[in-house]
Amino acid sequence: CGIVGYIGKKQAVEMIMDGLAKLEYRGYDSAGVAIVNGESVVNFAKKQGRLSKLEEVLEESPIQGCTGVGHTRWATHGAPSDANSHPHLNTTKTLAVVHNGIIENYMEIKEMLLEEGYTFQSETDTEVAVHLIDKFYEGDLLEAVYKAVACFRGAYALGVVSAEHPDELVAVRKESPLIVGLGEGEYFIASDVPAILKYTRDVYYLENDEVVYVKGDKITILDATGQPVNKQVVRVEWDI
Ligand code: GLU
Repeated sequence: CGIVGYIGKKQAVEMIMDGLAKLEYRGYDSAGVAIVNGESVVNFAKKQGRLSKLEEVLEESPIQGCTGVGHTRWATHGAPSDANSHPHLNTTKTLAVVHNGIIENYMEIKEMLLEEGYTFQSETDTEVAVHLIDKFYEGDLLEAVYKAVACFRGAYALGVVSAEHPDELVAVRKESPLIVGLGEGEYFIASDVPAILKYTRDVYYLENDEVVYVKGDKITILDATGQPVNKQVVRVEWDI
C-alpha cells in the first residue's frame, strides 16, 4: 500500500502513477488518484485491481491538473472493491482523502457523522476522515485537517486536496510512513523514497504527528500544535 502526492507545474497524474508503480512492492489490491485543477469539484478515478486497470480508466478519461494525491490500497476495513478504493470524497466532491493505516475509532466517528446527516459510500475506516474534514472546514483546509486528525486514534498517513484550494496540498502522518520530496518548483509526498527518486533526491523524513502544508511554491512542516518545524533536508545518495 502506498501514497504519492504531487504539487507543481507538471501533470500530477503522470507523476503520481509513476510513483505508485515504484511502491508496488509494498503490495496492494486497488488504486486511485484525485486531482484538483481549478474546477469546482475534485477529478478522480479509482479501481480495484492492478495499476494497469486504473491506467486504462485514465486513458479512457484523462484527468488534467497539477495538484493531486494517489493511493494503492491494502484493504483492512471493507473488501477490495471500486467503492472502497481511495480516494474518498465528501458529498459535494470538493475534498478528497487518501489514507494508509487504520483509524481505530472510526466507528464512533462514523456514528456521530451519520447522526449529523452525513452519508457514506464505502465500508472503509478512511471515509470518516473526509467527512470529518468537511464538517470542520470553514474555508481553511489546514485548520480543518488539524481538527479532524485530533479526533483520530490509530495509524495514518493522509494526503488531502481541496477543489477550493488547487494550489494547496496537506499531508500528515502518525505510525504510518510518509516522506516529502523537494523538487525544482514542485513537491512530492510519498510513503517511501523510491516513489520520487526519479525526480528529486532531497527529502524530509517526517516524524509522527508532523503536518505537511504546501501552498503554491512554499512548503511548511508543522508539529501537532501547529508550530513550524525546522526540518533538515536529507540528500538521498543511494539508487533503487
Ligand atoms: N484502512 C484503510 C482501508 O482499508 C487503508 C488501508 C491501506 O493502508 O491501504 O481502506
